[in-house]
Amino acid sequence: MNAVIPLKADSGCADAPVLRERGQREVFCGLTGIVWLHRKIQDAFFLVVGSRTCAHLIQSAAGVMIFAEPRFATAILDERDLAGLADANEELDRVVQRLLERRPDIKTLFLVGSCPSEVIKLDLSRAAQRLSRQFLPRVRVLNYSGSGIETTFTQGEDACLASLVPVLGTTPPEGGPERAASSLVVVGTLPDVVEDQLAGLLSRIGVPAAAFLPARHSGRMPVVGPGTRYLLAQPFLGDTARAMEERGAQRIAAPFPIGVEGTTAWLEAAAAAFGISADKVAEVTASARARAEVALARHRQALQGRSIFFFPDSQLELPIARFLSRELGMRLTEVGTPYLHREHLAQELAWLPAGTRLSEGQDVERQLDRCRAARPDITVCGLGLANPLEAEGLTTKWAIELVFSPIHGYEQAADLAELFARPLHRRELLAA
Ligand code: SF4
Repeated sequence: MNAVIPLKADSGCADAPVLRERGQREVFCGLTGIVWLHRKIQDAFFLVVGSRTCAHLIQSAAGVMIFAEPRFATAILDERDLAGLADANEELDRVVQRLLERRPDIKTLFLVGSCPSEVIKLDLSRAAQRLSRQFLPRVRVLNYSGSGIETTFTQGEDACLASLVPVLGTTPPEGGPERAASSLVVVGTLPDVVEDQLAGLLSRIGVPAAAFLPARHSGRMPVVGPGTRYLLAQPFLGDTARAMEERGAQRIAAPFPIGVEGTTAWLEAAAAAFGISADKVAEVTASARARAEVALARHRQALQGRSIFFFPDSQLELPIARFLSRELGMRLTEVGTPYLHREHLAQELAWLPAGTRLSEGQDVERQLDRCRAARPDITVCGLGLANPLEAEGLTTKWAIELVFSPIHGYEQAADLAELFARPLHRRELLAA
């Protein structure tokens, strides 16, 4: 049973019909998550077991690091592996052995499955167990799938965190109150600067010992067990949430900390779960809210009344649409999302204006027709659709940028608004 705070009165799209489509989709695969995960967990290494295509995807998404030791790589399955002529397990063990000998800084090694490893049914979970037995306590080896079959790109993070939860400690070791199982765990990768801001606010509000999953270092991962309350920072963590609850943790129902309103309600939900009043939250957040309101006002003029169409991509669509609609006055023509987790998004749905067209999944040609018919002022979509739509005269925003940029919390609210104001401004300059 989840800890629940009451939803506010308006019901918006809480019971709205959702157009469900299951056709051709245009999305990146879950390997993309490595781009932000490897920056966050500073002693982890992500070894993709895949093809040259997988290697190219990761390198072009993350850039090639020339001066630093990289924290991701691809063990390439070649034709002999794919044809079953070589023992891929033996080869993988050799690659891991060489890597860990050369890199004593690695404390957690993720074996990341891909389409090719799944096609040849390479059992990475058994490989991870075998290698963990060999390398623990120095290195823990875990596995998850980043495969592009039936996934969208933020699911890579969900799969990664879900693989971490079962190996988290359940009881507080010696080491301070911040690791106690009865405290708050914020779940979802946030840039360090955002994490520090939210941790500072939670601490000043009086929420006991908030910890973050993932932590920046393998040895600092939070303790999770019965009595842990957790708060999602990202809306795409369904499997991770399930794993947390299997450990006895309770979710605090809340909207997501995007925009001034979302951040305040998220903090209020955390406070309420620990018996702290909304007045205390208002007192602690007053100056940050005031700063954010002033910064947002600069963009409201450019965005107010403009229409926006979301193709399903990052799974951040609903919270961002809610922010753009309620705080900046934008008109929502369609809000598409790859998956709609009704329970986790209950507050977000209630906050969307009644009558908003919601869609889940994709049939890309049909959705393109709807987008062309709507002629929105701005279209949020994946990279593959952006150039053709720009060529048709539509203004676009790459959905992946919303995941790569710091967008959560008060201090980032105006930056998020600017991500939408900028392409409109650019289009106006071109048209002038
Ligand atoms: S995992 Fe699949 S979809 Fe992703 S890059 Fe590799 S082959 Fe392509």
